[in-house]
Order: sequence, then C-alpha cells, then structure tokens
Amino acid sequence: MKFAIFTKIDKDVSDVEKLVTKVCTKKGLTLDVDHPDFVFVLGGDGTFLRAVHAYMDQIDTVKFIGIRCGTLGFFYEFEPNDINKLVDLLLAGKYFDDSHRLIECRFGSKTIYALNEIRFENPFHTLVCTVKIDNEYLETFHGNGLLVCSELGSTAYNKSLEGAVIAHDLNLLQLTEISAIQNNIYRSLGSSLVLKPDTEISFNGDFSNVIIGYDHLTRDSSGATDIVVTSSQKRVHIVFSENYTFLNNIKRSFIE
Ligand code: NAD
Repeated sequence: MKFAIFTKIDKDVSDVEKLVTKVCTKKGLTLDVDHPDFVFVLGGDGTFLRAVHAYMDQIDTVKFIGIRCGTLGFFYEFEPNDINKLVDLLLAGKYFDDSHRLIECRFGSKTIYALNEIRFENPFHTLVCTVKIDNEYLETFHGNGLLVCSELGSTAYNKSLEGAVIAHDLNLLQLTEISAIQNNIYRSLGSSLVLKPDTEISFNGDFSNVIIGYDHLTRDSSGATDIVVTSSQKRVHIVFSENYTFLNNIKRSFIE
C-alpha cells in the first residue's frame, strides 16, 4: 500500500507530517508521492480541495484522508491523535469509502472538473445569459452569476447563497443564482433548482468579462459563448470511519 502527504502551504504542520510518515512506514506502507493509494491531507477545506486537484489525473484510484490541523474542516473527521488507529483501519480495510461524482464543465475547447461547485460571475457588468436544462429553455438570467454545486459542495458557497444542503447519500446537481435581478422586466426562478445527475445545464451569453470559478481555482472564459455543466464519470473518494454520519458532520460544522 502506497501513501502520500499533502500539506497546507501557509501553516507549519511538519510535526504531523513526520508522525504520519513514521506510523505509515512502521506499519509497512510505502511513501509514493506520484502514485499513492491514500493521500493524507493535513490542513482545512482549502487544502483538501487543492489535494484533490493535484491528483485529478488519477482521481478514480486515489483515496483522500483529511487529518484536521487547526482549522474547522468539512472534509475532515480525523485528528493527528487518531493516526495510529486510522492506519490500522486502512490496513484492515475497515473504513467508509465516501465516493462522489465530480462536476464537469465544458466551454470552448476546455473541460474542467470540480468537487464543490462550478460558478461563473461577472464582476464588472450585469451577466445576461439563457439557461437551458437538457436543451429545454428555462429562463434568461440577469444578475451577478450562477453556480452549479454537487451534494458535497452544497454546504460551501451554495449554502451562503441560501441554496439547500443536500445529504451526501444523494447524487444531485443544484443550480443556484448569485444576486439575480428580479423586477417587472427581468425575472428568473429566484430559488435553487435541484436536478438529477447527468442533467445537462447549458448557459449561452456574452461571457467575455466572466470569471469561471471551480473550487479554489478560476479561469477566464476565453471568449466562450456557451458553458455546459453536468455530472462527470470521475469520482472522488474520501475516507471516513465506519462510524461517520453526514448529520454529525453538519452538526459539528454548522450548529454546535
Ligand atoms: P477557503 O478554503 O477559505 O474556503 C472558504 C470557506 O468555505 C471555508 O470556510 C471552508 O471551510 C468552506 N468550505 C469549502 N468547501 C466546503 C464544503 N464542501 N462544505 C462546507 N464548507 C466548505 O477558500 P478557497 O481556498 O478559495 O476555497 C474555495 C471554496 O470556497 C469554494 O469551493 C467555495 O465553495 C468557497 N467559497 C465560499 C464563498 C462564500 O461562502 N461566500 C465564496 C467564495 C468561495
């Protein structure tokens, strides 16, 4: 079994890094940064997103394990003190492989993938675009932008926009508006729209000043006039203990 460690850039977690290396090598795992079976992510949610994108080319075979280092983290269940027990569980195969489809976004000749969400925003002018669901016209949107999240990303930016939180055992896409203009001339749905996976959500408009955001990353639209978002066949695998529950996670992260 091979492992790698991915760390937070702006925080010294070298003690935890040394501990993970020591415990893993003692129990017979091999350090392989290029082709690991397990990636230990030391940090918070931002670090987790960066780790997933760093291994995007082998996303279907790598499992990510969050070790919380200081910050509150939605993708994290384990603490540095759990490492010994955690490695035993990995070796025994006694863990919950929480796997989720990524979101795929195509524009121009580019295809990008996201764990949380794809969003596009115009920071300069009102964004105007048509929205089609599986090629059927829904609306012409006027506002700051639009976001499509997965169930995993429903608790991130989508939640701040008052989109619904989606339980992790459902595989769904959610389309959420960012500051839509609603008046007697311009009107859009005005609430989040939850859709089955594989739905193709397509947007057509002038995207020349638009920033396309995907997780912590951004791209310019490179002159594209069409953006298509759907579920990908690629999946991310996150390791939790067999005792993990989604409700405990949202209680710990948002309520308690
Ligand atoms: P970051 O790492 O500082 O993350 C921003 C916040 O989002 C943090 O509090 C983080 O804990 C939380 N977060 C990220 N993914 C989450 C998830 N799946 N569930 C619950 N909370 C989650 O900033 P970054 O490195 O730029 O990370 C990018 C993410 O930040 C994006 O995917 C987006 O969802 C989020 N974001 C949120 C807002 C907002 O809430 N207004 C605005 C922009 C981006």
